[in-house]
Amino acid sequence: MAIQAYVALGANLANPTQQLDAAVDALSALAVGDSLRVSSYYASKPMGEVIQPDYVNAVAGFITTLEPIELLDALQFIEQQQGRVRLQHWGPRTLDLDLLLYGQQQISLPRLTVPHYGMKQRSFVLIPLADIAPTLTLPCNTSLESLISVTMRDELQKLIE
Ligand code: ATP
Ligand code: CA
Ligand code: CA
Repeated sequence: MAIQAYVALGANLANPTQQLDAAVDALSALAVGDSLRVSSYYASKPMGEVIQPDYVNAVAGFITTLEPIELLDALQFIEQQQGRVRLQHWGPRTLDLDLLLYGQQQISLPRLTVPHYGMKQRSFVLIPLADIAPTLTLPCNTSLESLISVTMRDELQKLIE
């Protein structure tokens, strides 16, 4: 089955913009045909209390034939290829790839919750997602547009179109 998936990209170490470029290349290998779409890149402030550099964030959407867990494995493989080391919760990282949406499916597995649990509150996810899927409706029937507030727009700075 071919499913439309959306993945959030984030990086704040080792040239974050290049990390995202490399991740986009790797994701294109998972996409059916030329289905890959990528948002603008945005700068955002880190979540949580850890002192660390600002992030560069984007969202990619593509059609995939991978099952959800296979897709998570592929995303974690790409993170590892790009030198991801897990030290601190919400600590700095070369690359973070979160599976936001897998079609309209709701998935609850030990390793995988979809829609991603934090996506509705995170400006650095919602705004880039709206770049590539402005009319999207989430599995809970909420429109993406209705989740984006004015203050969220102030939290992000567009880096690259
Ligand atoms: P957050 O999840 O709050 O964005 P994080 O991205 O820093 O924080 P990680 O350390 O990258 O968290 O991931 C922790 C675990 O989350 C992973 O090992 C993975 O199994 C699990 N996980 C659950 N749902 C998802 C999802 N939709 N996408 C990616 N990982 C997920
Ligand atoms: Ca994350
Ligand atoms: Ca993650």
